[in-house]
Amino acid sequence: MEQKLNPCPCCGGNAVYFDSNKTFELWDIVFHFTIICRRCGLQLPDNRYVLRIGMAKNGDISIKIDDRQKAAEDWNRRVDDGEKTN
Ligand SMILES: [Zn+2]
Repeated sequence: MEQKLNPCPCCGGNAVYFDSNKTFELWDIVFHFTIICRRCGLQLPDNRYVLRIGMAKNGDISIKIDDRQKAAEDWNRRVDDGEKTN
């Protein structure tokens, strides 16, 4: 399940997933991504989150590493922290 991203703690803008880099490892595609505010550019530390996708032998998409949920939690926690300090 994907988690909804809260608005940016700085400007209230929309937050989106942003893949800063893609690499190929063996048979997999590896996305290195972060979450970024489209309005002011605030972002989580880069190169910390990974989504690794391959194809299973039966043709299904196989997700081997999935940090999307973790990234969303980190982003939303940061938003919570911001609201507390304000
Ligand atoms: Zn922002």
